[in-house]
Amino acid sequence: MELVLSPEDEAFRQEVRAFLAANLPADIAAKSGSGFRLAKNDHVRWQKILHAKGWIAPNWPVELGGTGWTAMQKHIFDEECAAAGAPMVIPFGVSMVAPVIIAFGSQAQKDRYLPRILSSDEWWCQGYSEPGAGSDLASLRTKAVRDGDHYVVTGQKTWTTLAQHADMMFTLVRTADTGKKQEGITFLLIDMTSPGISVQPITTIDGSREINSVFLDAVRVPVAEPRRRGGPGLDLRQVPARP
Ligand SMILES: Cc1cc2nc3c(=O)[nH]c(=O)nc-3n(C[C@H](O)[C@H](O)[C@H](O)COP(=O)(O)OP(=O)(O)OC[C@H]3O[C@@H](n4cnc5c(N)ncnc54)[C@H](O)[C@@H]3O)c2cc1C
Repeated sequence: MELVLSPEDEAFRQEVRAFLAANLPADIAAKSGSGFRLAKNDHVRWQKILHAKGWIAPNWPVELGGTGWTAMQKHIFDEECAAAGAPMVIPFGVSMVAPVIIAFGSQAQKDRYLPRILSSDEWWCQGYSEPGAGSDLASLRTKAVRDGDHYVVTGQKTWTTLAQHADMMFTLVRTADTGKKQEGITFLLIDMTSPGISVQPITTIDGSREINSVFLDAVRVPVAEPRRRGGPGLDLRQVPARP
């Protein structure tokens, strides 16, 4: 099917193309376009350029930093970025945890996390998979036990992409063993500098370091009180079930 662009969409394409030509650093485009892995600094440099333009989070609500683009404009933006060799925006913050915080987080959590996700000043990783809990994620065994104002989290995550760079990890942990195994799972935001966390590389077949094991040994995660870094856990058990 051939897509026929409206004059407005065609003008938008030219705007994106001109922006990329003027702002995408040549060294990043060369690396990214040739399939080389980018360093953290390359990603952050490019993401800060997008943020300065207001284009880092097209899918967010406009009032929180989204672009308000139509589906066609988002498609055009993606096409132009790919053609120019722009690296993808690392999804863990902008595309994965932020929509959850926007939908379910308290105002304090939104204020605490969203600006630093937009500015790429905080790097996130995704702690879902475990040894023995991949496709069958509900088998996860990393346990969080409530101790006053904290959860105490113990277990192991695996395949954790770019965890070696992460300031924060959004993770699924078991908080109850009763009922179906799909129940009793809580979504926690964990500060990666917390005592008890260690990150070990899993070297991939091409010799690179992209994925990791993350070990959690009695890591204390605050339930409600913000910390100096990090912040409150996001307990989805408190979210009313959808009708
Ligand atoms: C490069 C890479 C990066 C990743 N990054 C992250 C990350 O950042 N964070 C994170 O949480 N996870 C991450 N993952 C994990 C990933 O998203 C999957 O959850 C995980 O790879 C699947 O689990 P597993 O490898 O244990 O395979 P298994 O679940 O053990 O599956 C093994 C095989 O069995 C098949 N299989 C499984 N169940 C069934 C069934 N019921 N019926 C038929 N066939 C079945 C599967 O299709 C597969 O072929 C990453 C994985 C990779 C490869």
